[in-house]
Amino acid sequence: MQRVVVLGAGESGVGAALLAKAKGYDVFVSDMGDIKADNISELNAYSIQFESGTHTETLVLNADLIIKSPGIPDKAPLIKKCKEKGIEIISEIEFAYRYSKAKYIAITGSNGKTTTTLLTYHLLKSEGLKVGLAGNVGFSLARQVMDEKVDWYVLELSSFQLDGMFQFKADVAILLNITPDHLDRYDYKMDNYIRSKFRITQNQTEKDYFITYADDPEVQKHVSYKTGKAYSLNVSLENRLMNGAYFKDDSLFFTVNNGMNHVFSIHKNELSINGKHNFINGMCAVLAALVAKVGEEAIRKGLGSFQNAAHRLEEVSVIKGVRYVNDSKATNVDSVKYALDSFEKPIVWIAGGVDKGNDYSIIEEQVFEKCRALICLGADNSKLKEKFENKIMTFEANSMSKCFQILNEITKSGDVVLLSPACASFDLFKNYEDRGNQFKSEVLNIKNHNPLLGFLAF
Ligand code: ADP
Repeated sequence: MQRVVVLGAGESGVGAALLAKAKGYDVFVSDMGDIKADNISELNAYSIQFESGTHTETLVLNADLIIKSPGIPDKAPLIKKCKEKGIEIISEIEFAYRYSKAKYIAITGSNGKTTTTLLTYHLLKSEGLKVGLAGNVGFSLARQVMDEKVDWYVLELSSFQLDGMFQFKADVAILLNITPDHLDRYDYKMDNYIRSKFRITQNQTEKDYFITYADDPEVQKHVSYKTGKAYSLNVSLENRLMNGAYFKDDSLFFTVNNGMNHVFSIHKNELSINGKHNFINGMCAVLAALVAKVGEEAIRKGLGSFQNAAHRLEEVSVIKGVRYVNDSKATNVDSVKYALDSFEKPIVWIAGGVDKGNDYSIIEEQVFEKCRALICLGADNSKLKEKFENKIMTFEANSMSKCFQILNEITKSGDVVLLSPACASFDLFKNYEDRGNQFKSEVLNIKNHNPLLGFLAF
């Protein structure tokens, strides 16, 4: 019996283990950290052996196939040893794909993956298609493939996930943008990261589609890294495109005519999401939906009714004329650029945390022009301060409650308070969700302490 070792026992690891077991492999799961109680119960229920808190080398190195969590870097000594032994190492998505008969819309990019994935899924659902959601969002693909009930999957794929994918082929691949991120996992070489993103095109045939945001300089420059033969559809904010989608006069235009015969436009106000970045995401999602034969009516309905996940330019409340926006998921400078672009009013910008090598000069001008004040919310704020403190009012806070004490002093009616940190959250918070939730509960606090505001402020 072939032995499959699953490294990492989160949702995707457990899903992979269940599928491997169902397919008759001898399965072992190993996680360096703790395994959640629910996941332990599930592994026990299917009599799958596992260990936590360690990787016992002898139990891993005798594998025929390793399914590795994308969180474990290739540089990890254990992975190096597995490679030296010639053991095949793949990701959960790759493993699940090998047992699946459905079609795939796969989405990657440095920013906008979750939004575009959820929106594409929503559009396919609006047409009544049978569709599953997987990758970084939703349930594990392997778990869904075990009892496959859908014709399509929409997958959010990070570059780490793509690195573990080899036979996988997307029927529709979307590459949203490429800006420096996670370079620590790519030997600090941007080129390695870009090549990883372009893996989304691997194995594509002329029957498949590759959708990109054409104005993105890195995507444009490296389009030769596309490996498959997919038909390209482009999206632009700047140029009228004859085959793809573009944004002009506040409307999204779709001019896709190669076999799809769709030419129509949708006004931006018909979309439930806002901001230029979301028009890019929206156009990509609609093109993918058109390939999946979603009709114009379902597309319009879906764009209007879509609700994005929390922490992405999430409107929290307006209190005493101050609008509070939670964009805690903005963990790099590019996403902050789009966030700042989405507001006209004076912004009180909350930023900081663990910097992944940020270059703030990209947003310098916007900050000087639009931000009235900056509150640095991180353990080490030196880089932000150095860049901005001489030009705009700058404060430091080492907790969300301290941040709100400052806000209490400085905000005025008409302000937009924007948490869009450009940094990871691990210095002061558990994760970006924790940071966003603390922000939201502080806003709720202000509301609760001012019961009359409900009548006065909105
Ligand atoms: P990801 O899953 O790639 O992290 P999300 O949809 O979760 O992307 O959004 C992460 C952050 O990036 C949010 O702050 C969001 O407002 C911003 N963002 C969303 N789409 C884009 C885009 N196309 N370009 C740049 N920033 C974006």
